[in-house]
Amino acid sequence: MRVAVISDIHANLQALEAVLADLEASDPDELWCLGDLVGYGPRPNECTRIVAERASVCLIGNHDLAGLDETGAAVADFNVDAAAAARWTQAALERDTREFLASLEPQAERGGVAMFHASARDPVWEYVLDYDTAAATLAAAPLVLVGHSHVALAITEQRGTVSGGLAPGGHEQSLAEGRWLLNPGSVGQPRDGDPRAAWLLLELDKRVARFHRVEYEVERTQEEIRAAGLPHALADRLAVGV
Ligand code: ZN
Repeated sequence: MRVAVISDIHANLQALEAVLADLEASDPDELWCLGDLVGYGPRPNECTRIVAERASVCLIGNHDLAGLDETGAAVADFNVDAAAAARWTQAALERDTREFLASLEPQAERGGVAMFHASARDPVWEYVLDYDTAAATLAAAPLVLVGHSHVALAITEQRGTVSGGLAPGGHEQSLAEGRWLLNPGSVGQPRDGDPRAAWLLLELDKRVARFHRVEYEVERTQEEIRAAGLPHALADRLAVGV
């Protein structure tokens, strides 16, 4: 089975459309999404509807939960811009997209692959960005997919030793030996210094993963963010991928 894996779309329609056009050439059997369809960006309903229609697996992320949570509890740990965007998203979500997001879980298993929006210990909130947190999540299954950090990663455990790290666009990783934790990177708000939209092709039969990056119309998303009245810093960061 060939699977296209996406994560952290964050209501960036231009980035999502560019990724979907790019992955078509690989003709994947399935599309899996690791969560955070909304939050930060200006097109939450469009992005949610597209993923709802296309994805075989879709997780809920912390920003999706914040978009649904009008009590504000899920926003408590957010910085000022993220909290403002969450309140904007709460008002923008329409009934069908709200219902779809509310039906999702933050973790799943398919074809022997474990998936978490964040980590195995805390599927909603814990960032996997160092070897200690990676080791705890690598214990969940021989192959684990996570999102949440917006940083494309390929981390492995071989004979008790954890190694690996950033996975730039074009990186091809054999998964033939050891346990693996992969983060496809973010579609709609990359934070690894490469502003291009990220996605991952997983060839489960061949045990190979290939990290992809694709250009999209950043300026158009930036204009939409400003026009929507969202914090301008959320537009600025897209140009540099931080
Ligand atoms: Zn996210």
